[in-house]
Amino acid sequence: MGSVIINNMTKKFGEFTALHDINLEIEEGEFFALLGPSGCGKTTTMRCIAGFENPTSGKIYIGNNEVENIPANKRNCGMVFQSYALFPHMNVFDNVAYSLNIKELNSSNPVKQLAIYARLLNNRLGKHPKAIQEKVMEILKYVELDKHADRLTSELSGGQQQRVALARALVMEPAVLLMDEPLSNLDQKLRHSMRNTIRTIQQDLGITTIFVTHDQEEAMSMADRIAVMDKGHIVQIGTPTDLYSNPSTPFIADFVGTSNILSGTVAGEENGLVIVKGDGFVLRSANKALKDELNVIIRPEHVKVEAVDSIIDDKKTNVIEGTVIMSTYLGSIVRYDVQVGSYQLIVDTTYSSGSNIFEEGRKVKLTVEHERVLLI
Ligand code: ATP
Repeated sequence: MGSVIINNMTKKFGEFTALHDINLEIEEGEFFALLGPSGCGKTTTMRCIAGFENPTSGKIYIGNNEVENIPANKRNCGMVFQSYALFPHMNVFDNVAYSLNIKELNSSNPVKQLAIYARLLNNRLGKHPKAIQEKVMEILKYVELDKHADRLTSELSGGQQQRVALARALVMEPAVLLMDEPLSNLDQKLRHSMRNTIRTIQQDLGITTIFVTHDQEEAMSMADRIAVMDKGHIVQIGTPTDLYSNPSTPFIADFVGTSNILSGTVAGEENGLVIVKGDGFVLRSANKALKDELNVIIRPEHVKVEAVDSIIDDKKTNVIEGTVIMSTYLGSIVRYDVQVGSYQLIVDTTYSSGSNIFEEGRKVKLTVEHERVLLI
């Protein structure tokens, strides 16, 4: 049973409240990301689940168990850290076998304990029992490190070290896998391939995983659901598509993907569309307006750029006039910065060979469908 439930959890450090009334329900087998900027409380949430911190108030359940009185080493959580936290003087095998040895140590008689200490101190004196050997090699094969079992971890690449850390967590068959910024120390290319490795292993094993990151692309590409955190609060929980299509606040619109965020005032309604006016624009939106002064969110890829003399039916779509400040060719897309009133809107248009790129200084018409104008 690997579900994790957090009810009304608050965590204070002295006078400072790091977590405000956190509520989360993470399903068994789910890949769940905690996403937010530095200092928002992601690691503290994770540390409370793992048992390294005690919440000031609130309850945590792992499976059916309320874990307040269960120490960290009995919570059945596997941890993977940004720093890997491997033993550099031990080889790959011994690093992975370490926790299994410790577990055995805790449940053995004093004579057997001596042999286990020998294993932990120097594996040549102590021989690993067959069960441990098989289990470690099985997991090393799984993370494709079985051929490096004898290598010191200090001799491995960052990606390989991270896979040792993952193997060390998985070998204990934890109910929940907790990963705190596990990919931050890797270069861009390795990060991409490790994302796939982790996701594939997680899906294969069906292990409930909580993954902390400040990288929205990482969270969006890996997680089933994401909780976005800000200043110790959970601001929104949803699937990657939910968060992208329906951000509940400008903070989320800005943090999850790129957004144009404009300030507007509701100026009436027409044919079921809300009319919003602001500096340099009048837009009609198919969204509901919950207040008169609001934020208008438009995603860059939902805007089209047309020549200023194009004839466009402005009853069917929004049309705003602007001036190109910059165009950047990015291969399959062209990104424009377009001045509209006091705003510089970002517009991404798909590029196919031979298509026209509007140069800087050109007056253009921007079109955006009514359904694509979000009101928050
Ligand atoms: P980062 O992405 O930078 O790791 P985070 O979102 O994981 O940030 P936390 O490490 O959970 O943030 O910290 C949340 C807040 O709690 C921060 O303001 C931090 O300074 C504070 N904090 C964390 N641990 C302690 C502590 N032991 N004592 C005092 N304040 C702490």
